[in-house]
Amino acid sequence: MNRIVLPGGTIGVLGSGQLGRMMALAARRMGYRVHTFSPAVDSPTGQVSDRVVTAGYDDLDAIRAFATAVDVVTFEFENVSAAAAAAAADLAPVRPSGAALHITQQRAREKAFLADHGIPVAPFARVETLDELAVALGVVGLPAIVKTAAFGYDGKGQHRIHEIEQADAVWKLLGPQEAIVEGLVDFACEISVVAARGLDGATVTYPAIENQHEHHILDLSIAPARVPEEIAAEAARIACRVMDELQYVGVLCVEFFVTRDRRLLVNEIAPRPHNSGHLTIEACATSQFEQQVRAVCGLPLGDTRMARPAAMVNLLGDLWTDGEPAWETALALPGVALHLYGKTDPRPGRKMGHLTVVGDSVDDVMARARAARAAL
Ligand code: AMP
Repeated sequence: MNRIVLPGGTIGVLGSGQLGRMMALAARRMGYRVHTFSPAVDSPTGQVSDRVVTAGYDDLDAIRAFATAVDVVTFEFENVSAAAAAAAADLAPVRPSGAALHITQQRAREKAFLADHGIPVAPFARVETLDELAVALGVVGLPAIVKTAAFGYDGKGQHRIHEIEQADAVWKLLGPQEAIVEGLVDFACEISVVAARGLDGATVTYPAIENQHEHHILDLSIAPARVPEEIAAEAARIACRVMDELQYVGVLCVEFFVTRDRRLLVNEIAPRPHNSGHLTIEACATSQFEQQVRAVCGLPLGDTRMARPAAMVNLLGDLWTDGEPAWETALALPGVALHLYGKTDPRPGRKMGHLTVVGDSVDDVMARARAARAAL
């Protein structure tokens, strides 16, 4: 189904978090209607949608009814089953496809896909038992990281192993389930490339973004990334290859480690707009969310040029420990943009919002973004 969906049409979003919210805001600005589907009530996406369907992702009848009422279905949450994607695809175009989602939603499949296509990744092995884990640690080497193969994000289900004796205890925490063992990469920095591929196969990439994590959760993103031109260009080429191989339609993000000897290793692929790309809202001609709308609706892709350097800091629930943060203090600083996702329960580690600062240099915006958050 190569149908183009023009403004006035309806986009159906499976998932209802902040990514769907920011996409829905971009879609509505462009004249689209947005329906959202998820088990959640009063959700970030639901609050800004024309229609909310509250049902489980395994309720295929509800998925079918949802798909019937929209012109195109997309995801903001990748852990939707292949069966649900297939049920939707019988009734509406699903972009990106269920096949692309199937590969990228599970680490073992994703890593195998990357390795099979000759795309560089850290040494890894797939394991299903404690014995396999012990063997894999010998092959991959120590220190290593063990990650659950399915349904992991933001470092959930990840454990570091420094000594072989730890294998037992880590397997007790994770097992029995399929997992991936990876060599721990001693990286110089982490970067990501947000990219898009249209219905006609055209591809675009945003300038590389540099990311710093705290406790495995993204903390700060700055752009353009402080890496040599050829590294950024190679990362963009890899992102386009990944999209072409997946016959992808939509926005996708590839996260990379840049090793100390200046090699790129792909860490993971997110089949959707990405937290690191939030700064494109203020910094780029077309935000990653407008780009997702354009791509899944079959419109021409937008200009990805970045007018000025930008920095983004995440606002986690921990900031609410002593009550509501002092928004007015941060907003009094010049050039600070506040995004809150409409979540009412600020649990520690939960992404509640972010701040973006645009300015003249990467060092300047990074310092100002951190200062703005500290002022909260
Ligand atoms: P992930 O959920 O796989 O994106 O991991 C979250 C973060 O954990 C990454 O962005 C890295 O900071 C760190 N991490 C994950 N895998 C590795 C690895 N193999 N080597 C070093 N750091 C890692």
